[in-house]
Amino acid sequence: MAEARRFFAPRAWVAGAWARDVLLASDGGGSWSEVRTGCEAPTDAEVLPGAVLPGLVNGHSHAFQRAIAGLAERGTAGHDDFWSWRERMYAVALRITPPQLEAIAAFLYAELLQAGYTHVCEFHYLHNDADGRPYADPLEMSLALVRAAQRAGIGLTLLPALYMRSGFAASGLSEHQRRFASTPESVLGIAQALRRQASPLLAAGIALHSLRAVDDGALRETAAAARQAGMPVHMHVAEQQAEVDDCLARHWQRPIEWLLANAPVDSHWNLVHATRSTEAELEGVRDAGAGIVLCPTTEANLGDGVFDLGGWLALQGRCCIGSDSHVTRDWCEELRLLEYTQRVVLRRRNVAGHAAGQESSAGVLFGAALAGGSGAAGLRLGGFAVGERADFCLPDPQALALAGVPPEHLLDALVFSSPRTPMARVCVAGRDVPLAPPREGFLAAMRSLW
Ligand code: ZN
Repeated sequence: MAEARRFFAPRAWVAGAWARDVLLASDGGGSWSEVRTGCEAPTDAEVLPGAVLPGLVNGHSHAFQRAIAGLAERGTAGHDDFWSWRERMYAVALRITPPQLEAIAAFLYAELLQAGYTHVCEFHYLHNDADGRPYADPLEMSLALVRAAQRAGIGLTLLPALYMRSGFAASGLSEHQRRFASTPESVLGIAQALRRQASPLLAAGIALHSLRAVDDGALRETAAAARQAGMPVHMHVAEQQAEVDDCLARHWQRPIEWLLANAPVDSHWNLVHATRSTEAELEGVRDAGAGIVLCPTTEANLGDGVFDLGGWLALQGRCCIGSDSHVTRDWCEELRLLEYTQRVVLRRRNVAGHAAGQESSAGVLFGAALAGGSGAAGLRLGGFAVGERADFCLPDPQALALAGVPPEHLLDALVFSSPRTPMARVCVAGRDVPLAPPREGFLAAMRSLW
């Protein structure tokens, strides 16, 4: 049980806008029990020294890839793309041990908290031992991630991923994918075991790695079980042109087109990337009520392409952001790059704001990430409202990038003015969390991996 707490903020982001003089009270279960704007500071409330924002959900993470951030940036001779990056990523995936995974994830999750993410959706496919044999405990690697999240104090939705084959036409995995081997029963078993430990800070869902990695029958079987249990379903889709081409060759349909026609896609679904999607496919995703998880810095780093953000916002589609390969762990940078990529391609400004019919692109993108994060996580994480989890972050009021910024422009400056503003304080489910990442275990893991 958390203790009930009362905070008073001079400004807080409530229902999509800055509100003044806000009382935020949390109950013993770690949810907001009272949110009141325009009130006098109650004598029993802790007065916060600056404006506060709700915490954001990081909708897509592969924690172990934190170990290669910045270390896969040297081109090998000739061509370098997603697929050559993937070979370098596999080299770490094949070596990492459960204690190393825990140390790297604990460090990463503290970094995410420090940046104002209060929940992370972990798309987890490192199931087996390095030789490809299942661990004695099928939850070995999953529990390393759960312990890391508990140590950091971040909320976690663990998504054990189904990964069965190396490509559309393959009958199994390649040798260097042996740690990913899984079946509908194994991933559903992990999710069900985690659901027995569910709390305001821990939820489980299902990940289907991608259309190329999961056969049609297993996809439908796993999705049906997830639907029955009301769990979120996540899937990488249409990230790379090769995947679109292979899907067309196999099914005569594009990945999202095929998925909408053949899988029970609904509001529990979260399509990761969807970079290569057509207008008709996006309309279909919106009509199904599914969300899209955008990972702007990873999509840029891997040369994935540019998502049709303006089209999606104009359709009033649901989306959130993720940091995926963790080349950055900062939501401000994700939102900035998301908007800037559009500006560079379209040679216009304020693409997100214009598409949504609002003035502030930062406000539109933050609001979208906040609203979409709840569906990705499968928990109530929608911001400052009664019943939502009591999370907030407080950007350092002394930060250089915020100096002299009028309060109503604070979110614009956070997103569009560098250097990054650190969070002075972060609260998850009504509790303050430590903001210094545990370096020792991370450094030891990095030394042995590299
Ligand atoms: Zn991913």
